[in-house]
Amino acid sequence: MERTFSIIKPDAVQAGHVAGILSEIEKAAFQIVAIRKMSLSKAQAAGFYAVHAQRPFFDSLTTFMSSGPIVAMVLEKPNAIADLRKLMGATNPANAEEGTIRRKFARSIEANAIHGSDGEDSAAFEIGYFFAGYELL
Ligand code: GDP
Repeated sequence: MERTFSIIKPDAVQAGHVAGILSEIEKAAFQIVAIRKMSLSKAQAAGFYAVHAQRPFFDSLTTFMSSGPIVAMVLEKPNAIADLRKLMGATNPANAEEGTIRRKFARSIEANAIHGSDGEDSAAFEIGYFFAGYELL
């Protein structure tokens, strides 16, 4: 079993796509270990995306991620990290394959509906950033 971390981003929550995205995730055989609807401050979003601090879109990204409620979750299945990345599709929805979550639900390269950890180290950091151990039993 492997765990990964995911966020339904503010664009998708605002557009009413939470159930649609969770449905795709469950159809793909992920178990939802933990889930929380919440809002991020800009500082909390900056801490989460600290690896991108030098990127030109960092200010815009952290403003977007703190613009409305998100749904944060920990997902589990064998090969969860790579399988979620595949289910999400490319960062830019214009390049996302048919059948992927971003192809169906994303609006733009920034407002792209869903986040998924890109490796084991980032999954461990991101799960710990949002959830305490006692919430992950
Ligand atoms: P991901 O792993 O597919 O989410 O993509 P990255 O790790 O490269 O980027 C993190 C997030 O930053 C993306 O999901 C987008 O929300 C945003 N992002 C990425 N590239 C761009 C860009 O060129 N412009 C803007 N405005 N946002 C971007």
